[in-house]
Amino acid sequence: DTVGANLDRAVRAFPEREALVECATGRRWTYAEFAADVDAVALGLRARGVGKGDRVGIWAPNRAEWTLAQYATARLGAILVTINPAYRAHELEYVLGQAGVRLLVAAERFKTSDYAAMIAEVRPRCPGLADVVLLDGPDWPALLAAGRAGDRAELASIAEELSADDPINIQYTSGTTGFPKGATLSHRNILNNGYFVGELCGYTERDRICLPVPFYHCFGMVMGNLAATSHGACTVIPAPAFDAAATLAAVAAERCTSLYGVPTMFIAELADPGFDGYDLSGLRTGIMAGAPCPTEVMKGVMERMGMAEVSICYGMTETSPVSTQTRVDDSVERRVSTVGRVGPHLEVKVVDPETGRTVPRGEPGELCTRGYSVMLGYWGEPERTAEAVDPEGWMHTGDLAVMDPDGYLSITGRIKDMVIRGGENVYPREIEEFLYAHPDVLDVQVIGVPDAKYGEELMAWVRMREGARPLTAEAVRAFCTGRLAHFKIPRYVHVVEEFPMTVTGKVRKVEMREVAAALLA
Ligand code: ATP
Ligand code: MG
Repeated sequence: DTVGANLDRAVRAFPEREALVECATGRRWTYAEFAADVDAVALGLRARGVGKGDRVGIWAPNRAEWTLAQYATARLGAILVTINPAYRAHELEYVLGQAGVRLLVAAERFKTSDYAAMIAEVRPRCPGLADVVLLDGPDWPALLAAGRAGDRAELASIAEELSADDPINIQYTSGTTGFPKGATLSHRNILNNGYFVGELCGYTERDRICLPVPFYHCFGMVMGNLAATSHGACTVIPAPAFDAAATLAAVAAERCTSLYGVPTMFIAELADPGFDGYDLSGLRTGIMAGAPCPTEVMKGVMERMGMAEVSICYGMTETSPVSTQTRVDDSVERRVSTVGRVGPHLEVKVVDPETGRTVPRGEPGELCTRGYSVMLGYWGEPERTAEAVDPEGWMHTGDLAVMDPDGYLSITGRIKDMVIRGGENVYPREIEEFLYAHPDVLDVQVIGVPDAKYGEELMAWVRMREGARPLTAEAVRAFCTGRLAHFKIPRYVHVVEEFPMTVTGKVRKVEMREVAAALLA
């Protein structure tokens, strides 16, 4: 199937059900209205010369037009290049050039980002960028009007020429470990993944999914939007960018049944001063993904937010994204402490990164995944693709994992983040989990910093709970001594207000290591 055909099916089955709600503006669409606007956007883009295989960029925070553009480009067989709304001019320029974007759809401005000014700045250096459509101002309404006057029969004939194996998205990875890479994904890749995520959550046309996660990333556009249309569910956009209070308010006002987030989002929601005032009783399920989640937070989500059926999913942009997930019938212990088992029609294995041989169950190694979800490749970078996907089709994730005898996986960190202190392999995750139990600690991250004697030493970055006194290295030592092996006790403690983050809500340890090196120098 194609993404367009998938939407058609939802429209035929549930024309009058709600498809999309945008809380910031109060706008809402039924499936029939949504499809009509998607077609108008598609024909409007067509009128501006967009055809199959053309790259169309989208650069905006979460908003309804984002979703419309997602399905409209899919109808045309164009390739949607999803651009991180936090990018600055030089990053935009890189992506526009790297992906060969022909038409760019963009917000005019949001908070401190003046998108229009940045586009004007880079445009002279982007000869391939033929056209820009701004969402705020006259461009977008004009495009819609042109599209409404167009001939919908044209879309039907375009649909016949599309194949499920055509590329449909170029999605850049979060840039957690370095510069983002453009994963090229097909209809088959993302549609299957969205469908299976929807199955996992048991979605029907009665579900309403609150999406504070970014659309430019698979988490929003596949696990959210495509999972919804695959099952006739409704997506709710609480705010253009993550905001804990707005998210809680949206869940309450829209009676959402499902809520997504990365751990830091759920941590912020649980710590929101107004938490007890929101009626979250509609919540049943949801997805936690993107980064390791402290067990305590998972418990809070299940018990205090009422998301008894919440699932932890593990995946990466390159695999469309989900590879493993916990299921409702797994034991609570496993549902809070593992990333579950391999998803339908996928394979996983844990290998020794040096030899490539599968390690025994219970031993850590690099997680590899294979199946329908593996990307077509990194756009325009065959060498990097060959480094990541081997000739047998296995995606080498760069993540460290342990598989238990029953096939449940735990992610113990990223190969790049593993610390080797005096010859001992230290997994920061384990220490983070331990320190998280300290009553004054709101959130904690552990990194390795260069050390003359041990090669690397451990440094804990800590965010304190409101009113708590900053934690000292001595206090941490006292807390850990006798309960953690001596080589796992952080030597340095650095108290911060916020961690350096990606827009997908992940902590950028690369940046923390740079800051730490400067601090210690
Ligand atoms: P980049 O590849 O640019 O460095 P990134 O890997 O963060 O950035 P994404 O594709 O958004 O970009 O994220 C995938 C990664 O997120 C995985 O490789 C893994 O490290 C981490 N991750 C995803 N889900 C989970 C999870 N449930 N538990 C632990 N880690 C997770
Ligand atoms: Mg990655």
